[in-house]
Amino acid sequence: MTSKITLQDSYQAQARISGRIRRTALVESPSLSKLSGGQISLKLESTQITGSFKLRGATSAVLSLTEEQRAVGVVGVSTGNHGRGLAYAAAQAGVRCIICMSELVPQNKLEGIKSHGAEVRIVGRSQDDAQVEVDRLVAEGMTMLPPFDHRDIIAGQSTVALEILEQAPDLDTVLVPLSGGGLISGMGMVLKAANPNIRMIGITMERGAAMYECLKAGKPVLVEEQATLADSLGGGIGLDNAYTFEMTKAFVDDVVLVSEEEIAAAIRHAYFQECQVIEGSGSVGIAALLSGKIENPGRCVALVSGQNIAMDLHKRIIDGENVDVAAESKGGEDA
Ligand SMILES: *Cc1c(COP(=O)(O)O)cnc(C)c1O
Repeated sequence: MTSKITLQDSYQAQARISGRIRRTALVESPSLSKLSGGQISLKLESTQITGSFKLRGATSAVLSLTEEQRAVGVVGVSTGNHGRGLAYAAAQAGVRCIICMSELVPQNKLEGIKSHGAEVRIVGRSQDDAQVEVDRLVAEGMTMLPPFDHRDIIAGQSTVALEILEQAPDLDTVLVPLSGGGLISGMGMVLKAANPNIRMIGITMERGAAMYECLKAGKPVLVEEQATLADSLGGGIGLDNAYTFEMTKAFVDDVVLVSEEEIAAAIRHAYFQECQVIEGSGSVGIAALLSGKIENPGRCVALVSGQNIAMDLHKRIIDGENVDVAAESKGGEDA
């Protein structure tokens, strides 16, 4: 049996990571407030070091390792924001970090990980091949840190909510991008403890909405991954999910889905109205507000979770092109 993750875990994570992560701004959005009839603010985790909130969980987990674990090092399989956060957190703590990936991973993602100081190991042609190498490294004594279903990761992500409570003590609604659910589990635990009336809404994309399907099925199920502008929200929650499925069920009031067109419109809105460059996954809360899918938002915070988008893709979206990543992708991408 896994024990519950509590407010105490959240405060302890905050103490561990304080000074090592950025306290991000909460900014009012007059344009979204006008459009939605609420009082909307954006929590800009897109301006976090490494470009997403994932640094909070990664730093929390790296700093929770035992002396022996620190001496050997950590390993991950993510080529996206978790990989970046883990690479940076490990480098800061002086811990060896190996990120395993398949040879199909695009060069810009590979460089993104390397630039934060991790060793990159390229193995085989699929994510499964990369996993075989991870298992080998774990057998040799390295510690695998997963992107969401882990106590210290969830406790780390929950610290965003502690900050929000200081910045906006009176809240009605919080919009959180949702994939594996580490972020919304941690945030929901904190916010519902502070005020059970706060409405927690998870936002995800129509294409491959894993947690949404699992909640509907009442248990973790396999959901096919599809190419989407919200690429950091892709992937399943794991059939052996230990924490985030139950926590999401307990703390999340509603899950809202957004289309590719709505995501593109939100990226444009962030750029032209808010002066922010954000990635598709970070934009889904704005997408839900713009499309009128959030009823009575009231005093509402939309978490903008990340900024790591290929700049050529961003430019095409800003230029108004109707980008269909599914038609363009050759598959094999991961979050
Ligand atoms: C990982 C990620 C999410 C989703 O977080 P989960 O804990 O997997 O639900 C949302 N936005 C961005 C930018 C991310 O990198």
